[in-house]
Amino acid sequence: MFPLPSAVETIMFRGRTIYVKRDDLIHPYLSGNKFRKLYTLLHTPASRYKKVVSYGGSQSNAMLSIAYVCQMKGWAFEYYTKTLTSHVTNSTEGNFAKALALGMDVIELPHQVYQQQVRELFFHADSSVIVIPQGGACTLAREGVVHLAHEIMQWQEDASINNLHVVIPSGTGTTAFYLAETLPYTCYTTAVAGSREYLLEQIGSLGAVPSNLHVISTENTYHFAKPYREFLALYEELKSGGIEFDLLYAPKMWLALSDMMEQIEGTILYVHSGGVQGNGTMRQRYRYKGWTE
Ligand SMILES: *Cc1c(COP(=O)(O)O)cnc(C)c1O
Repeated sequence: MFPLPSAVETIMFRGRTIYVKRDDLIHPYLSGNKFRKLYTLLHTPASRYKKVVSYGGSQSNAMLSIAYVCQMKGWAFEYYTKTLTSHVTNSTEGNFAKALALGMDVIELPHQVYQQQVRELFFHADSSVIVIPQGGACTLAREGVVHLAHEIMQWQEDASINNLHVVIPSGTGTTAFYLAETLPYTCYTTAVAGSREYLLEQIGSLGAVPSNLHVISTENTYHFAKPYREFLALYEELKSGGIEFDLLYAPKMWLALSDMMEQIEGTILYVHSGGVQGNGTMRQRYRYKGWTE
């Protein structure tokens, strides 16, 4: 059901061959780093919990992945998000609609009380309930990401690759943190959901920032989940190179990589972090801008 190890393929990017770890192919709903971060939960006996509680954005990839695991296990799934727009509630496609169909219960919180109320979720849970922080940013994520690291190390050894550099985009930085902590290679990431400083702070809450983890930046500043022409162009460029990436995280990572690629000697492995199933609703927003068909 979840074919492992995930495949490694290549893509030609601006004159350079780059290896891509196809974690996106693991499962349509439970793909990329969400599969890795929820690995422990996926291997938890169904009798251990009755309910999973989490919170975050209304089209979150983590939300859909948790909804899928809960449906598999027969657990209830309670998801807290800020007051929804009619655009989201009326939509019949996208992560939100799919998660609802999988049985997710949604609790909308007004913007003003959201931060306070989600913090309190952690104090009210009994032992039959597990509360997962936004984006799965917690130690629960460690085991699955360590597995990913071991797959990469095994591949590097089998393919006799010298001087390997690993690239992965960051939201909460959880995947990049556990990956860099485990891998003996230089790792590059970029902050997609907030500033570089905020990302380092988030990573710092999991442990000391590994010295082999480099947070690289783009020339321009981009706001999370907003459409940008450069992102669409890069997405199309990669797609015509043979691999579809997500429209939210990957474009900024590839832009940052493109800017400093010349300085990287050796082999580059980009870890595809999934999220392609969310492209439909992002593309709608690009269409609405008139930037794409
Ligand atoms: C969730 C997600 C990320 C961010 O992962 P973190 O572990 O929170 O840094 C990156 N890419 C995609 C496609 C995602 O869905």
